[in-house]
Amino acid sequence: MAAAPALKHWRTTLERVEKFVSPLYFTDCNLRGRLFGDSCPVAELSSFLTPERLPYQEAVQQDFRPAQVGDSFGPTWWTCWFRVELTIPEAWVGQEVHLRWESDGEGLVWRDGEPVQGLTKEGEKTSYVLTDKLGEEDPRSLTLYVEVACNGLLGAGKGTMIAAPDPEKMFQVSRAELAVFHRDVHKLLVDLELLLGMAKGLGEDNQRSYQALYTANQMVNICDPAQPETFPVAQALASKFFGQRGGESQHTIHALGHCHIDTAWLWPFKETVRKCARSWVTVVQLMERNPEFIFACSQAQQLAWVKSHYPGLHARLQEFACRGQFVPVGGTWVEMDGNLPSGEAMVRQFLQGQSFFLQEFGKMCSEFWLPDTFGYSAQLPQIMRSCGIGHFLTQKLSWNLVNSFPHHTFFWEGLDGSRVLTHFPPGDSYGMQGSVEEVLKTVAKNRDKGRTNHSAFLFGFGDGGGGPTQTMVDRLKRLCNTDGLPRVQFSSPERLFSALEGHSGQLCTWVGELFLELHNGTYTTHAQIKKGNRECERILHDVELLSSLALARSAQFLYPAAQLQDLWRLLLLNQFHDVVTGSCIQLVAEEAMCHYEDIRSRGNTLLSAAAAALCAGEPGPEGLLIVNTLPWKRTEVLALPRPGGAHCLGLIPSSGDSAQHGLCSCSHPHLAAAPAAPAACVCSAGAPQPGAGGPPPTKTDGSVTLDNGIIRVRLDPTGRLTSLVLVASGREAVAEGAVGNQFVLFDDVPLYWDAWDVMDYHLETRKPVLGQAGTLAVGTQGGVRGSAWFLLQISPNSRLSQEVVLDVGCPYVRFHTEVHWHEAHKFLKVEFPARVRSPQATFEVQFGHLQRPTHYNTSWDWARFEVWAHRWMDLSEHGFGLALLNDCKYGASVRGSVLSLSLLRAPKSPDATVDMGRHEFTYALMPHEGSFQDAGVIPAAYSLNFPLLALPAPGPAPAAAWSAFSVSSPAVVLETVKQAETSLQGRKLVLRLYEAHGSHVDCWLHMSLPVQEAVLCDLLERRDPAGPLPLRDSRLKLTFSPFQVQSLLLVLQPAPS
Ligand SMILES: [Zn+2]
Repeated sequence: MAAAPALKHWRTTLERVEKFVSPLYFTDCNLRGRLFGDSCPVAELSSFLTPERLPYQEAVQQDFRPAQVGDSFGPTWWTCWFRVELTIPEAWVGQEVHLRWESDGEGLVWRDGEPVQGLTKEGEKTSYVLTDKLGEEDPRSLTLYVEVACNGLLGAGKGTMIAAPDPEKMFQVSRAELAVFHRDVHKLLVDLELLLGMAKGLGEDNQRSYQALYTANQMVNICDPAQPETFPVAQALASKFFGQRGGESQHTIHALGHCHIDTAWLWPFKETVRKCARSWVTVVQLMERNPEFIFACSQAQQLAWVKSHYPGLHARLQEFACRGQFVPVGGTWVEMDGNLPSGEAMVRQFLQGQSFFLQEFGKMCSEFWLPDTFGYSAQLPQIMRSCGIGHFLTQKLSWNLVNSFPHHTFFWEGLDGSRVLTHFPPGDSYGMQGSVEEVLKTVAKNRDKGRTNHSAFLFGFGDGGGGPTQTMVDRLKRLCNTDGLPRVQFSSPERLFSALEGHSGQLCTWVGELFLELHNGTYTTHAQIKKGNRECERILHDVELLSSLALARSAQFLYPAAQLQDLWRLLLLNQFHDVVTGSCIQLVAEEAMCHYEDIRSRGNTLLSAAAAALCAGEPGPEGLLIVNTLPWKRTEVLALPRPGGAHCLGLIPSSGDSAQHGLCSCSHPHLAAAPAAPAACVCSAGAPQPGAGGPPPTKTDGSVTLDNGIIRVRLDPTGRLTSLVLVASGREAVAEGAVGNQFVLFDDVPLYWDAWDVMDYHLETRKPVLGQAGTLAVGTQGGVRGSAWFLLQISPNSRLSQEVVLDVGCPYVRFHTEVHWHEAHKFLKVEFPARVRSPQATFEVQFGHLQRPTHYNTSWDWARFEVWAHRWMDLSEHGFGLALLNDCKYGASVRGSVLSLSLLRAPKSPDATVDMGRHEFTYALMPHEGSFQDAGVIPAAYSLNFPLLALPAPGPAPAAAWSAFSVSSPAVVLETVKQAETSLQGRKLVLRLYEAHGSHVDCWLHMSLPVQEAVLCDLLERRDPAGPLPLRDSRLKLTFSPFQVQSLLLVLQPAPS
């Protein structure tokens, strides 16, 4: 008989219950202290230490030495294998027995040659269930291996998480024993914690809060930790409480097990392979024990790694995928950065990802899954839609520093008008633990209350892996339907989105990019990775185009499909949201650079092979194959190799249509004698052009004017741009009284996320870098190219040299820049004040462009003080504008009339060496009449990024110039030409085109290839059911809406024999 009710004080009652479950206080007499019963040491412990990440079979053959609890091992990135021999005492028959293991680092238990469970203190996995109930006849002796990686869940930062890794860190094993586990105690602890959570979370003015607290208090009254026979009554009280149901209007939470594993970040790629195994093998165990538990798993690359390194585990994952418990999500190869990859690269993320998911799990993903990335391109909805995906889940915008995003469930409408149903889990996390606090937060924070009554709840340790635990699952099971809380159900993304679809009539729409108001430094950090990314995107574009032409023209040529898949996958891997962004440790950056080198060298070999195939069989002398890989005519100055290793400059013309997206042949002698074109005029300032007119006379000492008849550029004696004139109209592009090409340094000390963040206040520390007069010299003089050259000391430690180049016929002036950069927490930019006024500037994004404000009117405007762009940005007023092009930069801003390109940063965490050393990059300025569309800014930016190729041809080059494709409208860009995925070794090509001006347009695609059939297809290359398009004289008519991307499948005629 319970004692009479006492006067209850809310706080003391609450704390009484807290002490009863505390792992810190009163464990000698409280319930927590009874979680484990009898224990005994393992029979024998031995270990083997290695710097390698060895496969199991190899590791267990090694020489294991005796070890004991308390031993240290390491250092960082090494692996310690433990052999654990154990014998369970006979007296424990009928009991649940665990191996309790506590060590630093990340452990993986192996049993009978297969991985069975992860063990990490940080991930709350310190116990491995040996048996649920030891039977009389069960074997009681066993040998296990525990593979411990010498790094934590989040790497091995020295001092703080994001500090560079400490290479000397040592690790320790602090517990290795067998123990009896009391499941009934565990259940009571879960219930009491949930009751406490409700009491606290619902608060003192809520009736249900008191009911929860008094129930818990009563359970403590009843429960004697030393007498298990008292437990069932307490348990019954809890069951009665949790069995009191909520009403029909209750919010529904869709609990999804998840484990965010960064494909590389504070640890190298190779460790991620093991992180996947440790995390997912634990998930398999949870799925076995909890048939209702569902786990969502993204990133095809990680699954591909597990398939090759842990085939047994992969087979189990496939098995659980069939049962619907293991749900592959996302559709992409990795969870890539949402800003920097090109449009084509984003398409390939889905193409590679979806085909892997289909092949391995029999099904493509129906939702894009990108919880953790640093912004989302406005072109993503269209790409998703055309990859069979209508749903999108993320949550990173909850990190916005300035503005709180107004929705959790909404339609996101992209650049072309495509819409996808988008959900941000309102709890603003992808690493929930299943607590009442989080469940309540999910309901309270939902910005679309009244519009939708369903939310996602992603639970499981994440970032460095780990994933869900049994305790989290137990909590969520208990909360399935109890009054005072939302209903919680284990669910799949499909069920979540179909529930959200049910409310779609009520939902709001957000148009345009999802800009993250944080981590804006990631557009610039690690310039070499950015450069590798841009360059490798170009190489793969060129290899695919040239190989496609070779396939069409040569019966013998084998399209290098498998090699291209490898190279694409490497590039896509590096576009992971902590790699291309530069927010990774040095080890990862070094690996990324090796990946780029691999793509460069193998890509160039493939280019040569395609060139050779194109040249075979034609009569004529050996020579150079000049290739224009862009779909429009080009006349450009090109440096051509001469015998003996020298180079000469040649003007490569395109007569008629001959060089449109095609080839022309040139032999050395011909080019060496390239006709003198109208000279790019170089004159040092001592002899200014007579009648040049324009601005008032500058000092004549040491300034230089470059003039190609299209634009006239004047540089002051320190290399700054004092004038940029469109010759035909005499229009000046540099703001009055200002100078362009002005380098500026900023202090760049963020609040925490060093490699990630540049803060608004850095703008207050602007310091122009001033050069010394007299450093400007004339470089190349006359002929087809004129240039000037100067040196600039940026600081005592860093210097810069620049060649300012103007080619004949070229509408832009290029700035080839070399920087030796040795700084700490500084940001280098270059500024161009323009004689242009406009409230908005235009920035290139994937397959299109968008406008952003040039003022700071609202908090949404000023939060975009640093933005990203791809190859160009433009500031235009009616009739005139100035475009700034670049070949490997992404960070930018336009404030007022000043265009600014972000060049180099110098953060120190998590890579202390990032960006130190030598850099080379090019940007260019293009003043123009009319709109940037009509003036050809887009093709100019392509030309800067895709130089004409001059490939040595081992055989004779084709005698006549030849063009494969051309498009009748300048608004439509033929971006990609490749072999169709569906017909490896077959004669089918895929063409990708997009509308680049933001207009409705009809156009003709001209083809000189032997095309038998043409049909539209989606981005996954699935044929449009409407059937083939009418082909007229090798022409196709295509109709585009603004920024629409279209893909064409071309079936080629059989190869000429
Ligand atoms: Zn991440």
